[in-house]
Amino acid sequence: MSTVIVSQDELSRYNSLIPMLKKHISEAGIDRGRPLTYLVKTYGCQLNESDSEKIEGIFQEIGLVEAKEEETPDFLIFNTCTIRENADIRLFGNLGAYKSRKKENRDMFIAVCGCMMKQQENIDRIKKSFPYVDACFGPSDIHMLPKILANKLNQRKRIFSVSEEDYLVDDNDIPVLHKRKFRALVPIMYGCNNFCTYCVVPYTRGRERSRSSEQILSQLRDLAASGYKEVMLLGQNVNSYGKDKEGEISFAKLLEEAAKIPGFSRIRFMTSHPKDISEEVIYTMKKYPNIERHLHLPMQSGSSSILKRMNRHYDQEQYLKTAMLFRKELPDATVTTDIIVGFPGETEEDFQATLDVIEKVKFDSAFTFQYSRRPGTKAADYPDQIPQDVVTERFGRLLELQNALTFASNESVVGKTEEILIEGKSATAPDVLTGRTNSNRLVNFRIPAGIELNGKKIDSSAPDFDADEFEGMLANVRITRAKPYSVEGELESFIDESR
Ligand code: SF4
Repeated sequence: MSTVIVSQDELSRYNSLIPMLKKHISEAGIDRGRPLTYLVKTYGCQLNESDSEKIEGIFQEIGLVEAKEEETPDFLIFNTCTIRENADIRLFGNLGAYKSRKKENRDMFIAVCGCMMKQQENIDRIKKSFPYVDACFGPSDIHMLPKILANKLNQRKRIFSVSEEDYLVDDNDIPVLHKRKFRALVPIMYGCNNFCTYCVVPYTRGRERSRSSEQILSQLRDLAASGYKEVMLLGQNVNSYGKDKEGEISFAKLLEEAAKIPGFSRIRFMTSHPKDISEEVIYTMKKYPNIERHLHLPMQSGSSSILKRMNRHYDQEQYLKTAMLFRKELPDATVTTDIIVGFPGETEEDFQATLDVIEKVKFDSAFTFQYSRRPGTKAADYPDQIPQDVVTERFGRLLELQNALTFASNESVVGKTEEILIEGKSATAPDVLTGRTNSNRLVNFRIPAGIELNGKKIDSSAPDFDADEFEGMLANVRITRAKPYSVEGELESFIDESR
């Protein structure tokens, strides 16, 4: 795998196919008496979500409209993840469900992309068992979609174009559809060089390649000017941003430059790596209030010997030093993490070390996983795999401890008034809104009677009340109740009057 910078010319060649595709799509729509539709099904991480936003951007550029989930679209893309076994199983299950639908709509275009396509066995399986899939392409081939669609239009045969190269494209030149009108996902780098022994990402996403800070900052300025309140800076390991590029600025410097751009209420970033996070990042977060008061710092294990076997390049002491420095410098902020239980060779003592670190850092919440043996990773061949019943028992103890800490963390803000960036209607009830604090805490809240906005009284019990109308607004919410994974509250006032 080698990094290949895609030139402007090459990208323009792909984008130059868009007008032809647009003409074809509109003519086909006229023939069918309806606009042609698309659906992108996304699995996995926010980088996959960001890739899907580009696929949707290209689809909308050629004149397709998004279909409803239950409808049979004309263009369907599965953007896959292969981080854990169940992701693969889900993909093939869902793909199977479209066999009959393709029979109903012979012109339907079905494609599969994303990390699973970088594993030959998955391509072979699709070639053999899913003859109705028209195309497969890789996670760094998204910019080639116009060419793949054009090739499919000109020839009936199936297209399997999963590049070996790790492409780096100027994302500013690819159409993108940000799914939320207040939040933009902004990849700052792709790939990973860490080769943690349980992880497939370095084999599917390739080597680390940073976008230029000039491109990123120009994209951020455009987003701020277009009214986006929140940006999520994305990378498998944001802390090694710029290290692969001579003369490029550090992640801390990029974060600072982003924070200086007027208009952003929230600068968020994901994912940090304990081996690379610098103290400078922590002090930069402290200095700029519009950088989120939250650090997601995947620990994976609290045992230094297991961390060594995971090839994580830090030990318990180093992890604690970083986490406790963050706790000291930003006492009101939240710290979350990822933890794997049942890694090969994990003894009861190793597991205890994980529980000890959790007790010390008191994570505000954690993504917890049972070890998943992934073909092609080093740890998959380790002899000392842990029996499932032992993993399940330990996982139970881990959840018990972490859930108590998460609830205690939520309880600690009851009675306080928090600034919330509203995300829209909650999943619980039409008159309940949802949003997040600046420390990434999930808040579900109601608007009490008597609250006014632009001089108009808001009545959340009215039949035409639409919580999504408040998406992207800032509000002060008094927290009234703690729940296991969120808090409840009542709106006190809107912070930002313009909608
Ligand atoms: S840092 Fe490790 S766990 Fe994260 S993507 Fe890279 S190899 Fe995977």
